[in-house]
Amino acid sequence: MIEVEELTVRYGSATALDRVSLTVGDGEMVALVGPNGAGKSTLVDTLSGIVAPASGTVRVTGRFAHVPEGRQLFPDLTVEDNLRLGAWRVRDRDTAPVYELLPGLRRLRDRRGGTLSGGEQQMVAVGRALMARPEVIAVDELSLGLAPLVIADLARHLAELNAERGTAVLLIEQNARLAFDLCSRAYVLEAGRIVAEGPSDELAGSPEVEGAYLGGP
Ligand code: ATP
Repeated sequence: MIEVEELTVRYGSATALDRVSLTVGDGEMVALVGPNGAGKSTLVDTLSGIVAPASGTVRVTGRFAHVPEGRQLFPDLTVEDNLRLGAWRVRDRDTAPVYELLPGLRRLRDRRGGTLSGGEQQMVAVGRALMARPEVIAVDELSLGLAPLVIADLARHLAELNAERGTAVLLIEQNARLAFDLCSRAYVLEAGRIVAEGPSDELAGSPEVEGAYLGGP
């Protein structure tokens, strides 16, 4: 669904991504972890076509949706209207399937985006992406600034989406523990380069990754 090959992206003379290769297969859940400024958002922005590659290729097959870092809701619009904006590329603007998948949104439907808690906003941002009926979804910093219980709830919804609808997920996270728990495979990005990749349980057990990202050994 996502195939990135030898991708290099530059902002002026600064290299944000340096020959990055990554794949997300049909129905897979894959994590991209790394510290602040590693280039994670740049990668998703390239997938969305917001940022252009200097070299290398990016291929996305199937309908793709992106939950941007910071949620980016319209604060003065209601939840219902924020959701509908996610359907700008498809004809069907029926929000019912999204409320079915994320039942917690139903009671918020008439609230304005700006009045919601961080976790509620993230739920709306995920719901808005789902309005595009994506076959693959990239979620940029799902957990950032949210409480553990809220994160667990959002993570459960993503896992359900993957298990029940077969939606492929690329999860971009600073929280490596969450990413490894949720995804079967992961990539570690540091300063624009993939420095480790593989099955999440193997990565989580490697001393370098454990020391740098999991607070161990
Ligand atoms: P964060 O979680 O903080 O967003 P990140 O891993 O997503 O980090 P990016 O936002 O992709 O990292 O940034 C990668 C590098 O590119 C950083 O050094 C950043 O300062 C730089 N960068 C990002 N966007 C721009 C831009 N529009 N112009 C110039 N430099 C940029």
